[in-house]
Amino acid sequence: MPLYSIGMPHRDHLYPLLAAFCIVNAASGIFLTQVQAAHISQNDQSIYAEGIGTSPATFIRATSSEGTINLPILVYHIVRPSYPDDSEAVRAIALTPETFDAEMQYLAEAGYHIVLFSDLEDNLRNNKPLPTKPILISFDDGWGDQFTYAFPILKKYKYPATFFIFTNSIDHKSFMSLNELRELIAAGMVIGSHSRSHPYLTKIPDSADLWDEIYTSKITLEKRLGITINQFAYPFGQYTAAIAMLVEKAGYRSARGDYYTGEQKVSRLYELSALNAPTTLALFKKSFPAR
Ligand SMILES: [Zn+2]
Repeated sequence: MPLYSIGMPHRDHLYPLLAAFCIVNAASGIFLTQVQAAHISQNDQSIYAEGIGTSPATFIRATSSEGTINLPILVYHIVRPSYPDDSEAVRAIALTPETFDAEMQYLAEAGYHIVLFSDLEDNLRNNKPLPTKPILISFDDGWGDQFTYAFPILKKYKYPATFFIFTNSIDHKSFMSLNELRELIAAGMVIGSHSRSHPYLTKIPDSADLWDEIYTSKITLEKRLGITINQFAYPFGQYTAAIAMLVEKAGYRSARGDYYTGEQKVSRLYELSALNAPTTLALFKKSFPAR
């Protein structure tokens, strides 16, 4: 069941929520309280910094000349019909279902092969071959829109994708429910962790709080879904070398950062580079040529 009707005035109930949870202190477990208290205009939607190609100042540079693989990791946030009053920040990362469908169709026509993070990990760690023109599809934040609009299209093309969920969002209004996450898994989709409360991890001074965001979110997802969670995506793409090490220590097999080069390296399994998916088919084709 959709989490909300598209006929409802979306701005009043959806985006203030999104804006509000990103300002919640990591120590605060329940963001809904903050949501009710916060009255934030669309211009203040700082979470969209995540969607506008910011690169972390603490970006860890590769130091070796090891083999690399060219494997773009696409990040989608919003797939839903557009609204006339969508803010610029929303437009920058939103795709209509039609555009998303066209991008998926184009990938097949242009000879791309959809792979999963586990395929990339096996390639980098064990030289397991990848199909030609591999590409990876991921979704962030667990929006109900993704289930309603993107999931049916992924099923139509039989494309597996990875959905990064922050655990506080599950079963809350506008986000996917536990049952919907189970449906994704049953259809071959993969669930990864996007932390517990979607904080800026780089602004958390307390290591116990960091561990809670990174490790507890993994355990929570595993317990609630009955699967192993192997991938992590840094909220806002922000991390440090120490945070990346914690992610590895927590038992993840890889982590997605936010700095796009298209190139992946074994030394950077915990800072895989990704890019926000282009929001028009023309730009998408330009970014991913057929040959
Ligand atoms: Zn996010």
